[in-house]
Amino acid sequence: MFVSIRGRVLVNVEALNMTESVGNYVKHRRVPVILPESYTTYFVPAISGESIAHGFQVVLAEEAKKNGLPVCKLCEKGIFLKSTNESVFKESFGQDPPKDEFEFERTVVGNCLVEDVGGFLYAPKAGGNVKRTSNFYTGYMIPTKEALENVVIEPQLHSRYALGTPFVEGGQGQMIYYVELSSAVYTFSFDLDTRYIGRATFVYDKAGQDVVNDRKNRIEVTLDAIQMFLIEFMFGAKKTRFLPMVEWESLVVAISDDVWTIPSPFAENYIEKAEKKMQKVNYNTKLFVYPRDGEFEEVVVNAIEEAKSRL
Ligand SMILES: [Zn+2]
Repeated sequence: MFVSIRGRVLVNVEALNMTESVGNYVKHRRVPVILPESYTTYFVPAISGESIAHGFQVVLAEEAKKNGLPVCKLCEKGIFLKSTNESVFKESFGQDPPKDEFEFERTVVGNCLVEDVGGFLYAPKAGGNVKRTSNFYTGYMIPTKEALENVVIEPQLHSRYALGTPFVEGGQGQMIYYVELSSAVYTFSFDLDTRYIGRATFVYDKAGQDVVNDRKNRIEVTLDAIQMFLIEFMFGAKKTRFLPMVEWESLVVAISDDVWTIPSPFAENYIEKAEKKMQKVNYNTKLFVYPRDGEFEEVVVNAIEEAKSRL
C-alpha cells in the first residue's frame, strides 16, 4: 500500500527551521529555487525534509509506545542516532551488535519501530556497514510558485532585561538578539510505502522476508502517527515562542495499492493534475481532497481509514 500526501499551507510568522547563529543573530534556512519560464533563481525561506522527518519520527516513537510496540532507548527520547556504530547500538538495544548482516537488520527492525519505518545506517569504524532505506519520503517545504517572488525574510529584534537585579554588572542587564522570521504559502510533500515495513531489505536474497509477526499492527500505528502529525502540524523548531499561524489551503491524500505519487504542489493546478494522472495510471488509487471533500481533519481521518482498510 502506498500513501502520497501533497499540500499547500500558509504559515505566518514562522521560525520553523533555523540554521546557524552568528553571534546574537539566528538565521532562517534559505534555499535556491528556480522559477519556471523565466528561470530566475530566488533564495527563499525553506523548511528542510530532515526537520519534517525528525518531527514525524518523534510522533511515531510516541505512538509506538502508546500501542505497546518496541522503540529503542535512544529513539524513544527523540535522539535519532539510529544504530550509527557499536556503542550507539549497545546503548539502544542493550546487547552487542550481531555480526551477521541479516541478523543485524532483524534485531534493529524487531526492536525499534522508528528504525523499521525510518531506516538506519550502521557504519562502524571496523567496516561491515548495514543500511536500511527509510520507508517514508519527505523533502523541503518551499514557497509556492505564486508566493515565491514576494517572500521575504525579516530579522526581528528581541531583548531580555535584568535591570534592577544584581546581575546587570556582568553585562547581562540587557541582552538583545535577532531571530529571522518569514511568512509564506509553503508546499508540503510526504509519502509512505508500506512494502518493506517489518521486512528485511539489506541482504539481497532475503529482501522482502518478514522479520516480525506484527506487521499489520506496525503499519496501523505508522498511519496513526501520520494522522496526528498532519492534523497537529508536529514539526519545526522554535515553537515555544515563535508558534506560527498555520492555515492549510489545500491537501490531497492518495491511497493506492502500488507506488503512486501526487504531482508537485508547487503549481496551483496540482489537484487537477492528480485527477488527470489517475485517469491514465491507477493502482486502485483513491484521492481525498481538502477542502473539496470536507474539513481538513475529516479528509485526513477518512484517508487514513481507507489506508487501514487495505491492510
Ligand atoms: Zn531506534
